[in-house]
Amino acid sequence: MKTHCDAGCQKAFEVESFKTIKLEDGIDKLCFECPHCQREYVAFYRDAEIRKLQERIRRVQRRFSDPNDNHEDANRKEAELQAKIKEKMDALRAEIEGGAAHE
Ligand SMILES: [Zn+2]
Repeated sequence: MKTHCDAGCQKAFEVESFKTIKLEDGIDKLCFECPHCQREYVAFYRDAEIRKLQERIRRVQRRFSDPNDNHEDANRKEAELQAKIKEKMDALRAEIEGGAAHE
């Protein structure tokens, strides 16, 4: 994933992997940093429910490698799960970052 350091040095860089930081309540914070200035960015947060949805989406995605499976159905389920995950991630992020703003 290509991005650029919009809150730091403004340079473009490639995100190769996320670093996982464990927060309380079983929440993981997935982040990456700018290789030029080490500015940290949060990719997303996930809790137990999001982890479960991500497992489900991986199972659905495995169906694409089975030529006898119903790919149309798998496609629909994948889109549904993706939308659900995005919604949960957005809500969790708002909850965590919204709360931090009041510190
Ligand atoms: Zn930077």
